[in-house]
Amino acid sequence: MELRVDGWSVGARFSVSHFIPFHNKCGRLHGHTYAVGCAFKCDVSAEDDMVIDLISVKEVLRELCDELDHHVLVPTENANSTVDVDGDEVRVETHGKRYVFPREDVKLLPISATTAERLADWFIDRMLDRIELPAGITRVELGIEEGQGQGAWTFRDFS
Ligand SMILES: [Zn+2]
Repeated sequence: MELRVDGWSVGARFSVSHFIPFHNKCGRLHGHTYAVGCAFKCDVSAEDDMVIDLISVKEVLRELCDELDHHVLVPTENANSTVDVDGDEVRVETHGKRYVFPREDVKLLPISATTAERLADWFIDRMLDRIELPAGITRVELGIEEGQGQGAWTFRDFS
C-alpha cells in the first residue's frame, strides 16, 4: 500500500529566491514557489487499521516549508562558490558574480546547489528527523515540485 500527501493540495509550499551556479538561465537570481509532497510505502498488517497519522506528517512538512519560505536560498557547499557571512551580510561570489544579501533574508543550506534534487535530499532527512516512523513503513518518498508537474523525488528505504 502507499499513503500519499500532495504538497499543492495540503498547503506544504514555500516561495524562495535562488540561483544555480554555472547554469545559463538559472544562474540568474530568480524565484519559485515549491510544493513538498511525500509518500509512504507500507505493509498493512491485520492489526493496523492506520499505519501513520498523516496529520502530523503534514504539520512537519509545513514547519519545514515555513523555515525556508520567503528567503534567498544559498548553498554553502558549492565547490565553485564562496559564501562569507560577515555581521549582518552574506556575500556570495559565484561564476564571476558577486551578491550581497542581508543576513536575515538568507537561509544557508549545507548542500552543493539549490536544485530540486538537492533540496529533496535536504528535506527528506529533516522530515525523517522530526517524525516517528511506525513499524510497517518500507519506503519514504519525498518530492520537491518547482511547479505543477515538474519536480525531483527522492526516497529512503527501511526494512
Ligand atoms: Zn530555479
